[in-house]
Amino acid sequence: MAETKAKGSIEIDRVLCKGCELCIHFCPKKAISQSSELNAAGYMTAKFDDNGECTGCAICALVCPEVAIEVYRG
Ligand code: SF4
Ligand code: SF4
Repeated sequence: MAETKAKGSIEIDRVLCKGCELCIHFCPKKAISQSSELNAAGYMTAKFDDNGECTGCAICALVCPEVAIEVYRG
């Protein structure tokens, strides 16, 4: 039987995000990048790039100091 790959996705709360880039650096799948949009507080927020590689590992959510990332699996 073929190995099934873990599949996940995330949502980043742009209001909470302070643009610290920790999630971008720690994502092992390079599925997060900096957007060019400022949020209301003037921060360049992170955005999820759904490249099909996200495994739902939740590392991004663990490192986010603002608790701005919600992880979905399956
Ligand atoms: S859950 Fe894991 S793979 Fe998916 S965006 Fe976050 S750190 Fe990257
Ligand atoms: S770790 Fe959190 S606050 Fe920092 S850029 Fe990512 S989502 Fe924004």
